[in-house]
Amino acid sequence: MLSFNLADKVAIVTGGNGGIGLGIAHGLAAGGATIVIAARDEEKSALAAQQLAPHNVGIMTIATDVADRSSVDAMVEVVLDAFGRIDILVNNAGINAGGSADVITDEEWDLVMGVNMTGAHYCSQAVYPAMKAKGGGKIINIGSMMSIFGRKSTPAYAASKGAIVQYTKALACDWADDNIQANAILPGWIDTDLTRRLRRAIPPLEEAVTQRTPAAKWGTPDDLAGLGLFLASPASDFITGAAIPADGGYSVQ
Ligand code: NDP
Repeated sequence: MLSFNLADKVAIVTGGNGGIGLGIAHGLAAGGATIVIAARDEEKSALAAQQLAPHNVGIMTIATDVADRSSVDAMVEVVLDAFGRIDILVNNAGINAGGSADVITDEEWDLVMGVNMTGAHYCSQAVYPAMKAKGGGKIINIGSMMSIFGRKSTPAYAASKGAIVQYTKALACDWADDNIQANAILPGWIDTDLTRRLRRAIPPLEEAVTQRTPAAKWGTPDDLAGLGLFLASPASDFITGAAIPADGGYSVQ
């Protein structure tokens, strides 16, 4: 039976207090899921919770640094204490830092890999026992166009976003027997705080993205809500290990 119903499900969205994470959180909440926002900035998380309130679902915010294993473990413990289950994990928290491969510092490299890749691993590992105990779950990892393409001055970011796709395939294999599906979303160019900084730094980027994208526009966080809901729901139960672009066609032209 085809179902997008998430009514009794609990979803953790890392970095869910803004941008793409909040867009996906709206999609999951529209499906009826209880939403846990796991991000560092508590004020921003409180504002995001207000924006999600009209969905009339359970909402919890937990200050979390995904790059810190003890912070992740503590967050998962709080969620389990409150709700007794975790069904959906969206590994969305992500950052970019550093310049080209010849100048990026060790600190910048470790920071980006620590959040974008290792953080996703910490979170996946931490929720696994709870998902297994309830008979299954959904993990949605956020890649990028840089999971496919290279780009100047993004060595750590591109490496982390390439790695997250391979990690997704590995999770799909490791936990298939536990009825856990793992998939990646590869967003195109989406208007968020992250890309607003880039657009200011590289003025031609605005127009270049619009010109190359068949949809002829930048995406918005809402554009990720539908795919997020689909990959979190029983409707996608036979899809695992996939990396699906949501990019207005950017990657096909
Ligand atoms: P934003 O900067 O708007 O959001 C990133 C979120 O990650 C913030 O809410 C931030 O919250 C959170 N975050 C950062 N570091 C940590 C950390 N250590 N622990 C927990 N949370 C953290 O960016 P986007 O919405 O654009 O990006 C979301 C994801 O989408 C990222 O993985 C990004 O790489 C990816 N992406 C974005 C694209 C775009 O065009 N915008 C394109 C392709 C991929 P806080 O500061 O409160 O912790």
